[in-house]
Amino acid sequence: MATKPVEIVVNPREPHFVGDGFRVHNFIPSAYRLDMQRMDPIIMLDYNSKFYFDPSDTPRGVGVHPHRGFETVTIAYKGKVEHHDSSGGGGIIGEGDVQWMTAASGVLHKEFHEREWSKKGGDFQMVQLWVNLPAKDKMSTPKYQAIENATMSRYVLEDNGGEIEIIAGEYKGIKGSASTFTPLHLFNAKLHKNALATFDFPKHFNTALLVIEGEIIVNESEPVKEDQFVLMANEGETFTIKATADAIVLVLSGEPIGEPIAAHGPFVMNTKQELIQAFDDFNKGKFGYLEE
Ligand code: MN
Repeated sequence: MATKPVEIVVNPREPHFVGDGFRVHNFIPSAYRLDMQRMDPIIMLDYNSKFYFDPSDTPRGVGVHPHRGFETVTIAYKGKVEHHDSSGGGGIIGEGDVQWMTAASGVLHKEFHEREWSKKGGDFQMVQLWVNLPAKDKMSTPKYQAIENATMSRYVLEDNGGEIEIIAGEYKGIKGSASTFTPLHLFNAKLHKNALATFDFPKHFNTALLVIEGEIIVNESEPVKEDQFVLMANEGETFTIKATADAIVLVLSGEPIGEPIAAHGPFVMNTKQELIQAFDDFNKGKFGYLEE
């Protein structure tokens, strides 16, 4: 199999706040050429790089807001988040856990630092992805998957190299527990210094890396530092990651859905008419109710 080369290494953009609880660098859809089609089916990626929050008795976060037409996936590296939605889903995710919310036909939700964590404060580090849904599933029933670190599928690397946590998809025959609507691989590669891991994805899958911690060399030739994003080319299949310090790397690879995208704020549909319908349904209270 041919080597999959790096297309470009992208630096984090200036951070901005989402509500008062998430200080994020947006990579998708605003950095380089990472518009909503380039990493299809991943249409948004906000990265809260490691940031210290002072103790607060009032949890910081984002109040009630709607979503329709896609899924939100929150991966916690440091800190704790509490989530509630109008379909009855919700829970607390802590270090290493993942929350996978399928908004689909529409939910209201809110996302805050967990109350007790907020009182103590501390380092906070998270990724939120928006995963698009194919047209046929955009109006399906909302659902919620909590993927706890303790029960996550893992592939242990040889020679004490570390492990690959498989959130979704499959790595060397081991499947992740998240159910997805389209083929999507989502891993955390937790590598010890000098470990080498190999990845294989079909050429046409859109593939990227985000270095959460440490530093790596991709394909023995491209050095990448903490908080940098690596867009892989749509050529070849195989690439390697070597850790030059203990590292955590988020690995993303998905089959493009290839449908038109009409997006505005919290709604991602296929046509402008469907967007107008989403605003109309939201204004008519059809997304249910959630207490502030
Ligand atoms: Mn949200």
